[in-house]
Amino acid sequence: MNPAEWLVRSAIRRPAAPALLCGDEVRADYATFADHAARIGAGLAERGIVPGDRVALFMKNRIEYLEALYGAWFAGAVVVPINAKLHPREAEWIIEASSAKLTFVSPDTGADLRAETIDIAGEAYSELLGHAPLRAPVEVASDQTIWLFYTSGTTGRPKGVQITSANIQAMCLGYFADVDSVAEQDAILYAAPMSHGAGLYNFMHVIRGARHVVPQSGGFEADEILDLAPKLDHVSMFAAPTMIRRLVDHAKAAGQTGDGIKTIVYGGGPMYLADIVEAVAVMGPRFVQIYGQGESPMTITALSRDLVADRSHPRWRERLASVGQAQSPVSVRIADAEGRTLPPGETGEILVRGAAVMAGYWQNPEASANAIRDGWLWTGDLGAMDADGFVTLQDRSKDVIISGGTNIYPREVEEALLLHPCVHEVAVVGMPDPEWGESVVAFVTPAPGAEIDPTALDQHCCETIARFKRPKAYRVVAQLPKNNYGKVLKTELRQKLKEEE
Ligand code: AMP
Repeated sequence: MNPAEWLVRSAIRRPAAPALLCGDEVRADYATFADHAARIGAGLAERGIVPGDRVALFMKNRIEYLEALYGAWFAGAVVVPINAKLHPREAEWIIEASSAKLTFVSPDTGADLRAETIDIAGEAYSELLGHAPLRAPVEVASDQTIWLFYTSGTTGRPKGVQITSANIQAMCLGYFADVDSVAEQDAILYAAPMSHGAGLYNFMHVIRGARHVVPQSGGFEADEILDLAPKLDHVSMFAAPTMIRRLVDHAKAAGQTGDGIKTIVYGGGPMYLADIVEAVAVMGPRFVQIYGQGESPMTITALSRDLVADRSHPRWRERLASVGQAQSPVSVRIADAEGRTLPPGETGEILVRGAAVMAGYWQNPEASANAIRDGWLWTGDLGAMDADGFVTLQDRSKDVIISGGTNIYPREVEEALLLHPCVHEVAVVGMPDPEWGESVVAFVTPAPGAEIDPTALDQHCCETIARFKRPKAYRVVAQLPKNNYGKVLKTELRQKLKEEE
């Protein structure tokens, strides 16, 4: 099925309901949203886009993002959302690799692109909107790819993850069943990039005919969110843990608790125990965790609002440190290198199987065969599962530090360091070491007004974790390098250490 059918149905049920908002200003109701998408679909068809063609989007968060997505689906195209922070040459690489015929851009991203573009602020876009609307979306089979998601490519060229219509349906099921309910009065706030997880959460809100809100800034500004949320009310959003950290710091400093925010879904990177405990203490039971990856979009496990917030549960703390149980559409298991399931508590690679798992990588059978074996997706993430099915993530396998032949999971060291009051943020990586193979190095940003004393941190670590795991060296930095999605770039930190040598 074509997701544009969801939009059409919502527009029939709730034509006058507010659909697209910029800040707290309504820019389009559902009838207009669907009409624009149907016109864009007609315009694209007129420009030679046939079902299955790729249409790329290289723009920052804006309400036109949704019009362009649904317009492309109306015409039966496959969308290729590209991280707006990429260099135009990197974006071109993706456009060429996916052989996208057209790319929607905004004035701030498109100028340098050597590809056929439609600027959403220009005449070509107005022309698209001038077409007579298509009567119905093109038919799409459930096994057809509708979203080609390019991985960040930190370990080589980005790969195109083929997300099918069935994958999206499974993701929606997982959301409604295990993450949150959605009501008509809800507002999904796109504070994180729409080319990624935040954008994928549009579907559930189109299905319900809820509001879609792009903040004026187009990004994650903590003050703006705290100011906007009470005006909108019933706000949901997806945010990376590092964004939540900023939001909680601001809320605390301003004496606010996040009025108007219904749900913050966090994931995409490690949420440290100390941080989520504080987040709930400051902002209340508004948090739900998900664990997913492009290859099983937003849908591997979930940790519900109750499990995050209910301190009375005897295993609250243990579960809070986990990423929860498998979401409804998938099975999850932990395996050794040969794919044999490991007993509860043992660490291995996390494997996923089910309707949310991608169809494979675009034109890359070798990488696809390596990622999906016997129907199971090998996530590249290491973790353990307890007897109740709660999964605790350790690290990406490539981030594990092997020192003196023993595995050290950076996450465990980071969790320990974050319990020290002088530490604001931390990232632990391995540094080549002639004697040990690798040694542990911690990059630390100090808490406001605090000074980092390596001896005190050393002592603190010895009180919480095994001696051999404690960092051999500390690097105090003003901030950690992060990508557009708020993920700490450990590759950059390792590179920095190499350059030091
Ligand atoms: P991406 O494909 O860019 O969305 O990145 C997915 C990766 O982010 C996963 O394979 C995990 O390594 C990490 N990740 C996603 N969700 C979580 C989470 N809740 N906790 C820790 N790491 C996560």
